[in-house]
This record gives sequence, C-alpha cells and structure tokens, in this order.
Amino acid sequence: MATANLLDFDLDGLAAFCERLGEKRFRAVQLFRWIHQRGQARFEDMTDLAKSLRSKLQSVACVESLPVLSMQASADGTIKWLFDVGGGDAVETVFIPEADRGTLCVSSQAGCAVGCRFCSTGHQGFSRNLTTGEIIAQLWHAEHFLRRRAGTDDRVISNVVMMGMGEPLQNYTAVVPALKTMLDDHGYGLSRRRVTVSTSGVVPMMERLSNDCPVALAVSLHAPSDALRDGLVPLNRKYPLEELLSACVAYLPKAPRDFLTFEYCMLEGVNDQPEHASQLIDLLRTHQRRGLNCKLNLIPFNPFPQSGLKCSAPAVVQAFADRLLGAGFVTTVRKTRGDDIDAACGQLAGDVQDRTRAQVRMQSLREQPIAFVNREVTH
Ligand code: SAH
Ligand code: SF4
Repeated sequence: MATANLLDFDLDGLAAFCERLGEKRFRAVQLFRWIHQRGQARFEDMTDLAKSLRSKLQSVACVESLPVLSMQASADGTIKWLFDVGGGDAVETVFIPEADRGTLCVSSQAGCAVGCRFCSTGHQGFSRNLTTGEIIAQLWHAEHFLRRRAGTDDRVISNVVMMGMGEPLQNYTAVVPALKTMLDDHGYGLSRRRVTVSTSGVVPMMERLSNDCPVALAVSLHAPSDALRDGLVPLNRKYPLEELLSACVAYLPKAPRDFLTFEYCMLEGVNDQPEHASQLIDLLRTHQRRGLNCKLNLIPFNPFPQSGLKCSAPAVVQAFADRLLGAGFVTTVRKTRGDDIDAACGQLAGDVQDRTRAQVRMQSLREQPIAFVNREVTH
C-alpha cells in the first residue's frame, strides 16, 4: 500500500481507509480527532490508539501539511501564508481577525482558468487543482499555528471562505471532502453558515453542491447585464445571468440561511454608474419575484499593475450602495483588510506555472477593452 496522506480524507474516507486496515469506524473517529482537533501529525504521540495500530499507520500513512514559503503579518492583524504545492506552484491563504470572528480565506487551485478581467489570480493563468489534502492543510496549519501562538486549545478560526486563489466549483471533487471535514463535529466543527463557497457561476456545480454539501454561497456577480459580464467574467458566456440567477433561486431551499450573497467588485467607469445600479435593481427584482433573496457585498477593486483598471472613488461606491439600499436590498461595502501585504481580495497571486497561456489571453483582452462609460472620473 502506498503511503496515504490522511489530510486527503473526510471522516467517511478515513473510515474506509481504516476498514482496509481491518480497523473499526470508531478508530477512524479517534484518528480524525487527533489530526484535526488536536493538530497532531505524529502517530506515535496519539496515545489512546493501540500501539499495533500506531505502528501499522506509520508504515502506510502520514499526516503531511504544506511547506510554508513565507508568512507575512499586516498592521491590521491579517496574516498571509504562501504555501509550496510543488512543481513551481505556490498558493496563498489569509487569516482575517475581527472582534467577533476569525476568518480564513482558503485557495482551491493553483491559479484559475476562469480568467476574470479584474483578478490577479485570473491574470496568472491556471496550473492545477489542489487536492483535498492541500486545501485542508491550509486550515490545519493556520488553526494550529494560531492556537499555539495564542497559547490556547480553543478554536481560533470560526469562519472559512473559499475566496482565495481558484474557482472552487471547478475543483468540485476535491473541495467537497474538504468542506465536509471543516463541518464535521469530529473535525473543525464549523457551522454551515460559517463556511462559504464563492463562485464566479459554475451553474451545474451549484446544483450538485446544494445536494452534496449545502454551505453558504457567495456568487461573484460584478455586472447587471450579460454584455458587461461577458467582458469581466468570461464564464458568463457559458452560463449567462438568466441561468446563473435561476441556479441561485434553486440553491436557496437547501442553503443554511434564507439568502445568498452577491459580490460586486467596484470598477471605476466600468460597472459603478447610476445606470448600472438601476439595471442591477431591475435584474434582482425580476428574480426576486421568482424566489431570489439576496444580500449585496460591494468590494472596492484592489488594483494590481497589469489590470488597467481602477477602483471606484469611495463616494461613487457609497452612492451605488445607497441606490441599492433605497430599493430595499441589504448592501454592505467590504472593508479592505491586509492590503499592505497584498492579502486583500483579488490580490492573491501566489506563484503559478501558467499552463493556459493566460498572459497571452489577457493581452488580447486588454486590446479589446470593456466599455468604459466615463473615463473622465478622477479621484
Ligand atoms: N473564484 C471564486 C472565488 C475566489 S475570488 C470567485 O470568483 O468567486 C474571491 C472574490 O474576490 C470574488 O468575488 C472575486 O470577484 C473578488 N475579486 C477578484 N479580484 C478582485 C480584485 N482585484 N479586487 C477586489 N475583489 C476581487
Ligand atoms: Fe478565478 Fe475567481 Fe479570480 Fe475569476 S475572480 S479569475 S473565478 S479566482
């Protein structure tokens, strides 16, 4: 038997693995708790497991996290890790402490194949999907590092958002066991409301997720019309707004709350004008009549050199929010955290061996830019 990394398994997977070793399910539960709740990677130190099992495990299994290439701390307490995933690829993970919660932003892929216009991960192209073990290692490492640093056995990370590098629903088979491990009472015991998958709109996988593991869903909308969204989120050409919003309506009955979140990245002169707010209100109202219930999260664009885009001025963001609020939509403006260490939304770039010629694609995108409605706006 080849050496198995036990971080690759959710509890059912670990139980199946233990069964192959002739061990009962409750042994898998003990093992799972040692690994995820206590952060123990050494079988010899798992003292309530039979010695015979410990030595069996030593020959067929390991608990292997990811090597840390760097760790940076922001003035606001945000921490960013760069993890080596081999082959010249590295991914980033960000911890964001707040008064009432600790949120970990986790990566699902080395790079991303969707190639959104305003995202630095998208500009880097795509190398490969992360394994379940590589996704969970980010949480395992961060949680147990933070506990050691705080000198506590209590949980530090209360929320996970799949908003790091990659499109989680394009790595579905690895992401679902990772989510299950986050939710498992014998694992991290996180509430389904506090684990969020963010997607640019992989419609068929939204339906599967609602059946397999219905966690909170955030949908990256960014535009109120197909014409505009096609240029910002290329996946829109495959799954246009009508299909995407219908999939959102279908997700809601299984969702952990009675709403989902739309993310909207505020780009100066591109999608931030009063007419965009009006179109967005019309679009959401149409789907509201079909059962859509949502909150909006406006994300000030975090610029990066190659994007050729600017963030909307704060007053423009506020005016956009006010229009939505005036129309009765709960709208918040996201605070930017960790931007002094490039850890803010869309700044995660890691190191990716681009296998998709993204640089070339982005270059041609830049040559046929999206319609700027008001290039004169300055701030
Ligand atoms: N691929 C998924 C999750 C990762 S991106 C998705 O697209 O939803 C997480 C969030 O950051 C998305 O809402 C994305 O649109 C947003 N984002 C990407 N680049 C950004 C940037 N430069 N500034 C602000 N937000 C950005
Ligand atoms: Fe991929 Fe999300 Fe970035 Fe788009 S915004 S390129 S889907 S990571």
